[in-house]
Amino acid sequence: MQQPFTDPPSSPPEDPPLDQDAKRAIVKRFSKHLNKGQIRYLRAGHLDILESRRKALGFTNPESGRFMFDCFTSAGCFNVGRRNPVIQKALEEALTTCDMGSCHLLSEAKIRFAKKLVEKAPGDLTHLFFAAGGGEAVDCALKLALGATGRPEVISTIKAYHGHTGLALSANGKEHYRKYFEPLMPNVHFAPFNDLEAIKRVAGPKTAAIIIEPVQGEAGIHVADAAYIKGLRALCDELGIFLIFDEVQTGFGRTGKLFAAEHYGVSPDILATAKSIGGGLFPNGAVLYKMRRDVERFLDAWPAFHLSYSGGSDIGCHVSLAVLNEIDRLSLCDNSLERGEQFRQALEGIKSENPGIIREIRGIGLMVGIEYIHEFMGPMMSNALAEGGVFAAYSGNAPQVMRFMLPLTVSDEEIDLVVDAIRQAIRTMKTLLPIALPAAKIPGVLKLLNNETIQTVTFNWLRSLESAGQYITQGRRR
Ligand code: PMP
Repeated sequence: MQQPFTDPPSSPPEDPPLDQDAKRAIVKRFSKHLNKGQIRYLRAGHLDILESRRKALGFTNPESGRFMFDCFTSAGCFNVGRRNPVIQKALEEALTTCDMGSCHLLSEAKIRFAKKLVEKAPGDLTHLFFAAGGGEAVDCALKLALGATGRPEVISTIKAYHGHTGLALSANGKEHYRKYFEPLMPNVHFAPFNDLEAIKRVAGPKTAAIIIEPVQGEAGIHVADAAYIKGLRALCDELGIFLIFDEVQTGFGRTGKLFAAEHYGVSPDILATAKSIGGGLFPNGAVLYKMRRDVERFLDAWPAFHLSYSGGSDIGCHVSLAVLNEIDRLSLCDNSLERGEQFRQALEGIKSENPGIIREIRGIGLMVGIEYIHEFMGPMMSNALAEGGVFAAYSGNAPQVMRFMLPLTVSDEEIDLVVDAIRQAIRTMKTLLPIALPAAKIPGVLKLLNNETIQTVTFNWLRSLESAGQYITQGRRR
């Protein structure tokens, strides 16, 4: 198959090439010490890849020597690109003067970053707490709303993803995340996304918070309507409810604004963010909030209601400040808007060429989703794209939707390369459809094809056949 991307020639040699035996040994050690199930899952989609020579738009697969274009970016962790040299320099500088610091004491690094972030934040989000990651930021946001209002209920949305920590997990809108850990936080109601009337039906004087992702990510890239967001703001004002935006994935330029809230001209009461805040080099997280009177009273009573010993570290804050500067220096918000528009237009072209495969293209900025007609096409496309040098993942809560979250540093020529790779991957997938599509018409078979466990087993079986084939061919050559 044609290789669309080659490794940039200036990449420093980092890891040695990986032969089959060395790869097998790594897989074995990963299975032994980390997670066997994860290997099965990744292997099914040709994604059991060791990342090496991470740089700018992707990394090299040391097995094939092929450059992989990172269109997933760990769901938005690498907005400023991979191993961005400016951020790397900031990290190195921080290491010469400080360490993580103590979360109890004062620090210039924390103050400087907090000041800059709240100055750039939408509306009157004038203060912040730190967190070590997205789930913790959401936990902190919900705790603040529950504590300040003294009310017991939260409203979240169906298929929402807010993380794997306690309160965030309780607010995840898909049962399979929660079912093994019940009872979780009680009194969480779930309403369909973009449905204001459904939220109005469950909101009331007991509601502490309504939490939404302004663009649902894991649910398959659903952009909130302006009327929905404005309606939520009015409802929250009327009932004294906290409006919380989870901008862990949408923050730091991803949607073409520093925060997605800016598209709506609406400010939430609390905004949780993480991921790209750390430039892909040092974890951090922040919970921005308005100083409402109930918040002030609550914080007077219990200023240490949330402590993070790893979040908001001095090193992290040095790095995060550099990330904000880098987003400005490279005009990454504008680039996200422009390249996003270019990308979506090109994808619309591919959609009209392939009506039997693509149902819809949607998104905002460089947070773009391709919805396929059938769920089983998501994993098949992940597989075909990986073979073509593109790392793209289907959505956890909607496998029929593939998420494209390219580094915001991408150029227009590079967008064209990704578009070519998608076109090629569709051609590859089409060679398998004469078997899959007629089978999908047999009652019950579509359900089986869409079943993740069955997909994982089948693709692993195909991979084993492939490996056996390679082994025989190599043996003959020897
Ligand atoms: N909220 C959203 C919207 C996310 O996308 C994620 C991560 N995918 C999280 C929360 C959780 O973040 P973390 O994994 O850093 O805890």
